[in-house]
Amino acid sequence: MINKVVYPGSFDPVTNGHLEIIKRASKMFDKVIVAVFCNPNKNPLFSMEERVSFLEEATKDISGVKVDSFSGLTINYVESIGGNAAILRGLRAVSDFEGEFQMSSMNKSLNSEIETVFLMTEAKYAFLSSTIIKEAAHFNGDVRSLVPACVYQKLINKFND
Ligand code: ADP
Repeated sequence: MINKVVYPGSFDPVTNGHLEIIKRASKMFDKVIVAVFCNPNKNPLFSMEERVSFLEEATKDISGVKVDSFSGLTINYVESIGGNAAILRGLRAVSDFEGEFQMSSMNKSLNSEIETVFLMTEAKYAFLSSTIIKEAAHFNGDVRSLVPACVYQKLINKFND
């Protein structure tokens, strides 16, 4: 039986949409490992250390959650965790489906033993992405209700430097 999930992503930065997925997953699995992906092709706004520390702060009261980081293939990271781990992804609108389907099919062909499980976003977060948060914050939009408090503060500092 699957008892732990790895939730991989860029989390640049973590939003309340991500957090809602983590909270729900923590009720379904013994362990949720939130794994921040170091993508050499992307130029993130926040460093790996910042992204990890936002997640640690935002998930500190959710039991069974651990934050980690990785580079390279997600499937290799999941294999390194060992045990009966699955990959967790969140699904927003129809637009997420194609990319997620492609990625989960690729992962299945790399290791047919590792499942990907999907949780549908809560409707109120369906529009929410790290990218749209950064865009709004860049132009001084009030995103306070959409990200954890620690992220909000750092966003303000970042764009007012
Ligand atoms: P990536 O760069 O791998 O897409 P993200 O950090 O943007 O990573 O997202 C990680 C995962 O969280 C993805 O599965 C994404 O679909 C999901 N996700 C992002 N925002 C939301 C949201 N508002 N509601 C539900 N799932 C979300």
